[in-house]
Amino acid sequence: MKIVLKTPLPRLANELCDVLKLFWPVEAFAVESTVKQTAEDAAKAQFTASPVTADMEPLRHEFVEADGLWRCTFILREYVAERTMPVPLPPGEHAKCDFELEYGQDEPSDPSATPLTADGIPMSEADQDPTVPSDDSDEEAIEETSEDVRDAAHAYALVYKRLQKRLCKLALYDLCKALSGKRPPWGSLTGIRPTRLLYEKLSKGMSLNDGAKALTEQFDVSPDKADLLHRIVIMQQTLPAPSLNEADVYLSIPFCRTRCAYCSFPGEAIGKGGLVAPYLHALFHEMEATTGLMRERGLKLRALYIGGGTPTALDEEAFAALMAHAASCFPNPYEFTVEAGRPDTITESKLRAMLAHKVTRISVNPQTMNDQTLIAIGRDHTAAQTEETFRMARALGFHDINMDVIAGLPGETPADFAHTMERIEALSPDSLTVHTLAIKRSSRLHLEGATLPEGDAVAEMVRIGEETAAKLGMEPYYLYRQKYMAGQQQNVGYTRVGAACLYNVDIMEETNAILACGAGAISKRVFADRELRIERAPNVTNVTVYVERVHEMEARKEALFR
Ligand code: SF4
Repeated sequence: MKIVLKTPLPRLANELCDVLKLFWPVEAFAVESTVKQTAEDAAKAQFTASPVTADMEPLRHEFVEADGLWRCTFILREYVAERTMPVPLPPGEHAKCDFELEYGQDEPSDPSATPLTADGIPMSEADQDPTVPSDDSDEEAIEETSEDVRDAAHAYALVYKRLQKRLCKLALYDLCKALSGKRPPWGSLTGIRPTRLLYEKLSKGMSLNDGAKALTEQFDVSPDKADLLHRIVIMQQTLPAPSLNEADVYLSIPFCRTRCAYCSFPGEAIGKGGLVAPYLHALFHEMEATTGLMRERGLKLRALYIGGGTPTALDEEAFAALMAHAASCFPNPYEFTVEAGRPDTITESKLRAMLAHKVTRISVNPQTMNDQTLIAIGRDHTAAQTEETFRMARALGFHDINMDVIAGLPGETPADFAHTMERIEALSPDSLTVHTLAIKRSSRLHLEGATLPEGDAVAEMVRIGEETAAKLGMEPYYLYRQKYMAGQQQNVGYTRVGAACLYNVDIMEETNAILACGAGAISKRVFADRELRIERAPNVTNVTVYVERVHEMEARKEALFR
């Protein structure tokens, strides 16, 4: 499909294009403003660099405000869709005005970088680790940053824009659904964390059942997906809630042995390891500064998480030094996870170092148990190595081991995926993360022109993953979605009771501060009014630049928590 959007709200072009992509591949997308554009509008519409060509179909958008109503209309071919919404009133004009009533229904303030996995890939390799920015950092982002929201007027402006955006997306969704006859599994949801919507419903006094139903009615989320969210929220409610004087700590090891085909992680191949010593020197400095900052600000440590990259890509000596320094800077966390990741980097000595420093949870990530696929995606280990490493970790005393898999890897069928799940079931991990392949712009798969697998096949793999989790006695406990995901599915973390990773939930639900150290890591401060105010301080991603500028990274974090 090639589209030229003619709109009075060009700043929404990106989000509207995302709605189209729920239904069709969009080969080209251009934007023509039907009103005089502001500088802000022009800047936001710039991503749509496609020039208008004769073979583009016009998508007409009208948006008018009259008699206290917004009326939004889209026209494509002979199809017309229209929705209306009361214009939100500014705060103070009326008690309990529309602004307040509508506020909770809108998209959460979530300017986070794409939640990547600790093992590096954006939402594939490990439990998500959004402390590393991705090449698609607008993924679950809301356009406004929290700095904009310092008083009621700003909050009103923010909500006003969000509601406009929501109305337009829903109207366009109606049109696309009528025209295509398709119903995407997550309905009209794009650029938003689905669990947050359900929590919003709960905060308005709805029961979980009613909240889940409301997501189906309001956003056309399929009943299956609404049920999944329902179960996730039930699980999350059993976990210890964070408080404002707690923080998680994330340490980034941005090195990998080789690069996997689906990975867009901006880290370094470890090569001969020349960068490791200077990197650890800088990282340890930042960790010490972070310890001081936590002490000064009275922040109590909740979860400690070491991700990357592949932390176990470090050699044994460097890895042992990292463990020792992490344990001494951040003693006695509620949980301590190391995203060990690739089985070929995990040795007995590294496992013993983790045990010695009270690591409570590790990941051993197969991604697939099919050797042919492992070769195709550039992972130089075998399925047998994964099993061997897992068993060694168990034998040494790890009681909480996560495994990650990816549904929809190149060339794989549901039967291949079922084979992977059978071998994983035999190992009986304590948690399981079922990712869906996403082809990111800077990944090798994208550069090679790979396409996503067919939606039904991926949906079947996701179902097999869910079934395996159930056989292992697990329940879903966190979920996130990304752009460019096969079959428009999702990534889900499943766990046995008692093995949920708090850090994963904190990241996804944005409920807790994160002090992040290392290249590419992003610290986050969550304020009491978190729907309106979450602030971040990113570290630079390039390892050499990080080493040179570590003092500046420390100052950024200090300023964030001032
Ligand atoms: S290259 Fe592979 S191991 Fe490294 S971060 Fe990316 S996906 Fe993980």
